[in-house]
Amino acid sequence: MRVKMNRRQFIKVLGLGAGALALPGCGGAGDLNNSKPSSRKPNFVIIFCDDLGYGDLGCYGHPTIRTPNLDRMAAEGQKWTNFYVGASVCTPSRAALLTGRLPIRNGMCSNKRRVLFPDSASGLPEGEITIAEALKPQGYVTACVGKWHLGHLPPYLPTNNGFDSYFGIPYSNDMDRVAGEGRQAFLEPKIEYWNVPLMRDEKIVERPADQNTITKRYAAESVKFIKKNKNRPFFLYLANSLPHVPLFVSQNFRGKSLRGLYGDVIEEIDSGVGRVLDTLRSEGLAESTFVVFTSDNGPWLIFNEQGGSAGLLREGKGCTFEGGMREPCITWWPATIKPGVVNDMGATMDVYTTILTLAGAKVPADRVVDGLDLSPVLFGTGPGPRNTMFYYRGAKIYAVRKGQYKAHFFTRSAYGEDKEESHLTPLLYHLGNDPSEKYDIAEDHPEVIRDIKKEVALHLANLTPGADQLARRIEKN
Ligand code: MG
Repeated sequence: MRVKMNRRQFIKVLGLGAGALALPGCGGAGDLNNSKPSSRKPNFVIIFCDDLGYGDLGCYGHPTIRTPNLDRMAAEGQKWTNFYVGASVCTPSRAALLTGRLPIRNGMCSNKRRVLFPDSASGLPEGEITIAEALKPQGYVTACVGKWHLGHLPPYLPTNNGFDSYFGIPYSNDMDRVAGEGRQAFLEPKIEYWNVPLMRDEKIVERPADQNTITKRYAAESVKFIKKNKNRPFFLYLANSLPHVPLFVSQNFRGKSLRGLYGDVIEEIDSGVGRVLDTLRSEGLAESTFVVFTSDNGPWLIFNEQGGSAGLLREGKGCTFEGGMREPCITWWPATIKPGVVNDMGATMDVYTTILTLAGAKVPADRVVDGLDLSPVLFGTGPGPRNTMFYYRGAKIYAVRKGQYKAHFFTRSAYGEDKEESHLTPLLYHLGNDPSEKYDIAEDHPEVIRDIKKEVALHLANLTPGADQLARRIEKN
C-alpha cells in the first residue's frame, strides 16, 4: 500500500495525471495504482561488485579511475552516501541482499568460517525467499550472471533459488588454488593458478574459468538476457566476480588506466555497466527498469595497490569500521526516481523490500525481514525509513549506528588480521562530523550510548539466530 501512496504523491508532485505515465512499455510503479493485474511491471537489474571500495569510482571522488558510465548513471539517478551492506565479507553480504535479512537470522554467517568455500557442504537454506523467488509468481523471468557464493552444490545454486538461468563462477575467484607461490600468486596472477569453474545453470562449462574475459562475458550475457526478454518483466542479477583479487582484465582495458591493474579492472566493470544501460536505452526499457549498482563489501586493503580504496572511510573488507560496510550505491530509473545525492541511510536488505514492493509482491510476513521500503527516497516523497544499522562480524554484533552516531562494542582491523578488541565503554563516533571515525566522543555522550544499548537489547529480544550454514564441510571418505 505504501507504494500506491508514494506513487500518487509522486504523480501529484509532478503535476501529472496517472495517464501521463502510462507510456507504451512503461510499467513503472504507476501500474501498481491499478486494481486490475498490471499489464507491465517494472524490470529490475542489480549490478553487484566484489570488494569495491567506497572511494573507487569517479563519481565518489576517485582522482584517477575513470568511470564515465557510472558517473552518468549517478547524474541521471541517485548517488547514495550512507548505503550499507549486511556484512563485511562476501557470503553473508550476498545472503542479506537476496533475502532482505541480516545473515544472523538464517545462519549465513559464522564465527567459525567467514564465507563458504569449495569444501562447504551447505548454502542458503531452502526456506529463505530470495528476490528471484518472490518475483517468479509475479510473472518475472529471472537470471543470475556472475558470482553466486551462496552454495555451489546443486540444491543451493541460483537455479534452485528462483533464477531461471545462471552463468558464472559460483564462488570467489581466489578459491580452488592449485599453483603459484603465496602472496606473489595474487600480485602476479595467472589464470591457471585458480581452478575455478564457470557454470551454465548446473553444469561446469569451463575450468579454469578464463578470468581475463570474465567481466566482458558477464556483460555480454546480461545484454543478451535483456534483449531476449524485453517484452516481459525481468529481473537480472549481475554480480561481477571482480575487483576481488586476483585481478584479471581483458586486453582492451589492460594498462589503460592511471591506477594500475586495479583501475583497469574498475574501468572494464564501468564499461559493462554502460553496455547494460545502453541496451536498456536502445530497447526502450530505460523508463521501465529500476537499476541498482553497489558492492558486497569494502576494499581488500591487505593487497595494497591491488586492493581498492574506501576513500575517507576507515579500514576495509572484513571489518566493521565504515570502510568495510559502507559502499557506493547508485540507483537509476529515468523519469521515475528523483535524481540527486542521497544522504539518507540505506542498506542492501532494503533493496529486497523495495523491489518486492515495487513489483507488487508481498514481503514475507512469517519471518523478520530487516529490509525497509526505500520508495519515499527514490521518488522524493519523504524521508528515508532507515535510522539504525547493525554491524555484525560473524554472529556477533560489533557496532551499531543510530542516526549519525555509531558505537563500537568490539573492533578488529582489516581482513587477515585476527585480534579482537572489546570496548567496555564503546567507542562513539559522529559519522556526520567524523566520517573517518577518528574522534571518540563517548565521554561526552553517555546518553547516546545508553540509547544505542537499548536498540541492541530490543534487537536481541527479537532475534532467533539461524543454524550455522558456513561451518559444515563436505565429508571426505
Ligand atoms: Mg567481497
